[in-house]
Formats: sequence, C-alpha cells, structure tokens
Amino acid sequence: MTNSRAAIQKRQFYWQGLHVPFIAPWSNERILPGTIVRRTGVGGTGIGYADELSRVDRRRGVLWVRQSLAQGSGTPTLGNVHALRQRQAMSHMLCQVCGETTYDADFARWGERHLFLARALKGRPFSEGEQTSAPPVCLPCAHESINACPHLRKGHTAALVKYARPWGVAGVDFDEATLRMMPTPPEQHLKIQMDHPRERWTLAMREIQTLHGVTPVKLIDLAGTRSKSS
Ligand SMILES: [Zn+2]
Repeated sequence: MTNSRAAIQKRQFYWQGLHVPFIAPWSNERILPGTIVRRTGVGGTGIGYADELSRVDRRRGVLWVRQSLAQGSGTPTLGNVHALRQRQAMSHMLCQVCGETTYDADFARWGERHLFLARALKGRPFSEGEQTSAPPVCLPCAHESINACPHLRKGHTAALVKYARPWGVAGVDFDEATLRMMPTPPEQHLKIQMDHPRERWTLAMREIQTLHGVTPVKLIDLAGTRSKSS
C-alpha cells in the first residue's frame, strides 16, 4: 500500500491555523433536500428520492442524505461531519483528519492494525465490538489532534483495532404514512442496524461500524517511530 502515495496524496485544508479534518463539512457543502417518495424495490418498501440514482443515493439498500461536495469552500464546521466523506473514510479506513489511507507503514508495524482515537473524559477505553461512527486516524494526525484540540487534551482513549465491520447507519426516521421526518432531538440520529425493518424508512447520515480485535493503547507508547512524511 506504499505505492504512489505522492500521486494520490489528498489536498489538506487549514483554517485559522488549524488543520481541518477530512470529514469536517464546509459551509458551501449543503444538505440537498430532494423530494422523498415511497419506493418499492429489492428488499421491500421504504423511502426514496423522486429522482433517485440508485448507485449514488443508496448503499446496501439504504437511502443516504444528499450533501454537496465543496471541500475547502466557505468556512469549516469543526466538530461536525460531512455524511459522504465520513462514509468514505469508514468504508476505506481513511484517516479522519488527513483523508489518507491508514493501511500505511504504521499499520504494518502494528501487526496490521488501525488506530482509533476518541474523546473520553474519564478515559473509558474502547471495548471489543464497540460501535463507532468515527473513522480511524493515522499516527501523525493523532498526535497533531491531541495538541490542537482542547477536548482531546483533557481526556482521550486510543486503541489498535484489527478490523471494523459494518453494523448499520445513523440517520433520520421517516413516517410511513406521511413521509415526513419523525421528530428527533437536534443532532441526535437514530441508530439502525443492517436489515432492521426500519432501515428502509431511514435516511442515512453516518455509517456505523463495530470494532474488533481491540487493544487499548496509550498514544505515547506508539510514538518515536517514523511518520507519514518520512
Ligand atoms: Zn492522518
């Protein structure tokens, strides 16, 4: 996985001196409304877009929110998440900060494991089978994040993870009769497991995976080795 890294290196974005994470949305990346209709297809009946493009709008039978792509345009919303870049990062194990693959030299050095990092005020470690919508992080970005983010500095937990497995999605539930969104508290998405009956009535906004082969680690113990730029 070390071939032609220079050729595929992703552009990095900065805002007021801060490295803007790959998964952070920018103000010109808007949620596109789309007309919701009732649709019957393979797997049952549920919501769909009136002008749906199956290969773009649906994944594993689940309808996804439409969000425009304009990374770097406008102002970033740090701490928020662009639905489609989050999904891309989860699916391909891209670092949530720089967007590069985490199948890197450190992955090989750690016995083919990915690094996951989370805010944890009480230092609760990652557990086996834990659900997460936060993509992995590469080691240089993990160190950079802890230095830059006061929340992470106050308390974080890290783990090396053998693999992540798709679990389901987080999104918004739609009423079967009215085709309107069910009221949910702001910023709180409903979590729906794959093949759940409500799956087809959910507009997905995040991919959720479960973590397996989890070994809690201290970041400081992973330091002192080569970085991505070396
Ligand atoms: Zn990174």
